Amino acid sequence: MPSSSSIQECKPPPDKCRYLIFTDLDGTLLDHDTYEYRDALEALNYIRHQRIPLILCSSKTKTEIEHYRKELGLEDPFIAENGAAVFIPKGILDTRDMTFVEYRDYKVIELGTRYSRIKDLFAAIKAETGLKLSGFSEMSVDQVVELTGLGRDMAALAQQRDYSEPFLFEDAPWRVLEEEARLADLERAAEKRGLKITRGGRFYHLIGDNDKGKAVQILKKLYETEGQVLVSVGLGDSPNDFPMLKNVDIPVLVKKKDGQYAPWSTVKKVILAPDVGPKGWNRAVLNLLR
Ligand SMILES: [Mg+2]
Repeated sequence: MPSSSSIQECKPPPDKCRYLIFTDLDGTLLDHDTYEYRDALEALNYIRHQRIPLILCSSKTKTEIEHYRKELGLEDPFIAENGAAVFIPKGILDTRDMTFVEYRDYKVIELGTRYSRIKDLFAAIKAETGLKLSGFSEMSVDQVVELTGLGRDMAALAQQRDYSEPFLFEDAPWRVLEEEARLADLERAAEKRGLKITRGGRFYHLIGDNDKGKAVQILKKLYETEGQVLVSVGLGDSPNDFPMLKNVDIPVLVKKKDGQYAPWSTVKKVILAPDVGPKGWNRAVLNLLR
């Protein structure tokens, strides 16, 4: 079993630390089924009071993330669609060395592949592998509602994608070995086309050569300023979070709704939050920061 550590304090004196918190949404800050974050309110309030940047880093689309960012009163950057795009509000962070496009009030650093191309390649991969996959772009809003438990409005926002195609195997479930063999076929077909497959809490995702870790690295670099020691914290629940967790100082894994942790053997020194989703998030964050 790989090593994990208990909740630890920031090593430099706390007044020299600048915390930067990256968090996944579904199944992590948001409850897997209800998409609520009320169990994390104590820690969220503490973070707001301490003015610690809280960077939402999700497989969700920009409009879905904006919904939560607004509700939470956040003005920090965010990362959409599994690291495909970093949205930085204009007026913060020095981005003069970065290549970005302007979108509304954001500077957007694009790391992903455009959705039109992802959809074309998804069709090509299906034809090549013969696997029966159903992608978000092929589903009605009602189907997305049924699969996700989202309300219709949020399901519609989830379908407004820019860089990634969430999908399921139509004839799942099968035996684990069978699943692994099919995934291996898919990954080969994706890789040939410069794409990757990653796995979130509910869906697989066909994405470009991006991941949450690359996006986290970019934001960490932009935040590194005037002699402060940057202490980055990352919180997640699923394999698509591992690249993020590998690129922060303090990686935290919350329990999935069945009470188990995603197999984290590739993430070093991970802190195992003592509870499921937002409850685990709350306790881990408060134990770390207070
Ligand atoms: Mg998740």
